[in-house]
Amino acid sequence: MTQAEMASDCSRCVGLCCVALSFERSDGFGHDKVVGEPCYHLDPSFRCSIHVKREALGYEGCEAFDCLGAGQRATAVFSVRNWRGDPAVARQLHARFSLLMMLQEMRQALTEAADLDLTTVFHTVRQALLDRIVFLADGHEHSIDGPAAAVLTEAREFLGQLARAARH
Ligand code: SF4
Repeated sequence: MTQAEMASDCSRCVGLCCVALSFERSDGFGHDKVVGEPCYHLDPSFRCSIHVKREALGYEGCEAFDCLGAGQRATAVFSVRNWRGDPAVARQLHARFSLLMMLQEMRQALTEAADLDLTTVFHTVRQALLDRIVFLADGHEHSIDGPAAAVLTEAREFLGQLARAARH
């Protein structure tokens, strides 16, 4: 796994983690926020206006968060669509971000599983699932919901099989 495949790049993202996700006021976040609502501290250029003071102001959760590259991928897919002026398109963008987070998390898990002492069959299945996830995560198709849901379900089942095999 290269760092570039999983690294977040906020310079190529429109602050999606600060808009698309929900938060509850807690030790790691300073106020309640619902899905789709921009954080109070997100500035008009999609940058955090309290970035250097987040920990001091009670936003440690933001510092710890890592989208694994979902942000710039979702932003790229919607770069030619009017998500700023159309709430329905904005909701699609936020949903794509959430889906890409799940794909990137699974991509990381399947990539790390390459180091496990697995049978050839398990490695073949692992690589096939990983290839499908990489195709969806790095592609620019507008609709990937169906194939993404299918491969995530299969990948979760596969990781369950690995866990059961490791116990025997
Ligand atoms: S505090 Fe800053 S990093 Fe955290 S959600 Fe708000 S704008 Fe984003």
